[in-house]
Amino acid sequence: MRIRILFLSLGITLLCILLFSIGSTQVYYNSSITETENALKVYVNAFDGTVYPKDSEGANAFSEKLNGVRVTFMDGNGKVLGDSRAEEIDSDHSDREEVVKAIRDGEGFAVRSSSTLGDNMVYYCKKTADGTLVRLAVSTPSEWTLFARTLPTLAMYIGIDVILCLVLSFVATYFILNPVKTLAGDASMDEVKTKYSELEPITEILNERNRNIKRQMKALEEDKELILEARASKDEFIANVTHEMNTPLTSIRGYAELLENGGLSEKQKTAAYATISAQSERLTNLIACIINYSQIEADDLPSYEVDFSGLAKEIVEALRPEAEKSGVRLIPEIEDNVLVTSRNERVREILGNLTRNAIKYNRPGGTVRIILNHNLLAVEDTGIGIAEENKDKVFSRFFTVDKSHGGKNGGFGLGLAVVKKICQKSGWKISLESTLGVGSKFIIEF
Ligand code: ADP
Repeated sequence: MRIRILFLSLGITLLCILLFSIGSTQVYYNSSITETENALKVYVNAFDGTVYPKDSEGANAFSEKLNGVRVTFMDGNGKVLGDSRAEEIDSDHSDREEVVKAIRDGEGFAVRSSSTLGDNMVYYCKKTADGTLVRLAVSTPSEWTLFARTLPTLAMYIGIDVILCLVLSFVATYFILNPVKTLAGDASMDEVKTKYSELEPITEILNERNRNIKRQMKALEEDKELILEARASKDEFIANVTHEMNTPLTSIRGYAELLENGGLSEKQKTAAYATISAQSERLTNLIACIINYSQIEADDLPSYEVDFSGLAKEIVEALRPEAEKSGVRLIPEIEDNVLVTSRNERVREILGNLTRNAIKYNRPGGTVRIILNHNLLAVEDTGIGIAEENKDKVFSRFFTVDKSHGGKNGGFGLGLAVVKKICQKSGWKISLESTLGVGSKFIIEF
């Protein structure tokens, strides 16, 4: 960059210096010609024909008077009568430019290159009162001679120019590159700033690039977290499924071995068969629940408008016998024409699971209130309630408060996980209010 600035500034300034010196030489040359012409005019006007005879002698005398200016006398047709330099007498000058003009107009002026190298001759010729012609001539330096004379000065200026351009290139690169170097140093900062408006486009590019990198890093970070979460979730799911399957399988194998070994009483045999049958059913249920959960998780079917009011009334009626069996009263508070964007099977799954739980984890004589309006669905029971520390956990897969899986209620802990998954897919918000021993209220806001 420095070399480029140096050559550029040097090139421009050298060209300027050269053009300026050629121009000023030209101006100087022109003005010197004009001055010479004026001087010659003055000399000719001072010529007195009575003092100087119009022959070579007179010409020499007049020339001497004029400090060596060449003097030529000619008759009215340009024939030489006398000349201060050894010009042939009688030679014809009628074709010379200044002579032609003087014969025609009374006076003539001409500049011609001289035989002397690098000089020009300035001629001025005038017709006198008696019709003869007087011509004066002086040599003057040509444009090139003048230009050549300026060369030493020119060389000095070029030398100064080179030094100045060198300094300029150093100073310019320092002032241009320093802010850029600072920018390069700051490039990794969150917000790159500059006080130079010319560099603002660069800072904008850097800042935009930084923002993009940040966005991409964040996205990568999120992706990484999602992958890790998914991996952990898959491992946990497999562990839970294995655990849930192990219990009934161990029981089935144990009783089957007892039966195989023989020696059991009839009563013991009946009990063994009953256990094997119950555990097999539990296994079948577990597999059905897992398949259902996986299907809902993978389900990407399109949503449509669902008549939640109609479905809710249907579900409540379907669960009434189960509630009555448990001594629980269902109280539907269902508004008409509640339409939601979802799928029938998803809505059934949500309300079915919440209501079944509310019956299952209730007490005899308890109630289950099912509230549905245009903003929300709430299922409120007067059951055993959920402890504060379990409020989030109940939505996790395979979480049950009663850890004895074959226990009273025998659930696998997948119901609320399914409800939460469906809410996520529909963009609904699920929350839980519960007091241990008083009851629970699951609220879904559409
Ligand atoms: P499951 O009922 O099959 O065990 P869920 O996922 O439906 O599985 O419920 C997870 C756990 O949350 C249940 O085991 C139960 O302990 C608790 N739970 C769910 N609903 C209620 C409720 N209405 N009242 C009290 N506890 C509940």
